[in-house]
Amino acid sequence: MAVDPATLRIQLYPAEVLRRKAKPVEPGAEAEAVGRRMLELMRGAEGIGLAGPQVGLEWRIFVCDVPPGEDWSSETDPPSASKGPAVYLNPRIVSHEGGLEPYDEGCLSLPGITGTVNRPPTVTMEAQTPAGETVRVTATGLLARCWQHEIDHLDGVLIIDRMTQASRLRTRARVRQMEKAARR
Ligand SMILES: [Zn+2]
Repeated sequence: MAVDPATLRIQLYPAEVLRRKAKPVEPGAEAEAVGRRMLELMRGAEGIGLAGPQVGLEWRIFVCDVPPGEDWSSETDPPSASKGPAVYLNPRIVSHEGGLEPYDEGCLSLPGITGTVNRPPTVTMEAQTPAGETVRVTATGLLARCWQHEIDHLDGVLIIDRMTQASRLRTRARVRQMEKAARR
């Protein structure tokens, strides 16, 4: 196996890998093992999503697990929560509905930073499972938000690039602090 999943760790901003465009990944046992490890790291950090570059891999893979909450459910159509943990490879948004809606997002690679990001509320995604099956799935609410956030990671895009001007100003000091800490 080229990648030892046990060695994967969550990468913090400004790690360079977070800015690279990730490459397509082959379904199979290795992707499955990496997905399992990513879910474990995500849970340990109490997140709802994690993308390949966030564990140092230039792979187009992400995991998510959006539990049902007060405002979201896996029973509605389209769902706004996931039916359990999921691993997606080579995902792309094929359509979106509605205008842009604001929501406060955080990121496991940017601890202590949240900001308002505008995104379409409902999206349809095409992706592969680690078993090699192609799926076409639609989500709304927090689940749709999570997918879009994670797919951004695969293109080297972070919430600090997408957040509103007001949020950018509010979080600027903390972002600088992280950049400085990394240089030491
Ligand atoms: Zn993130």
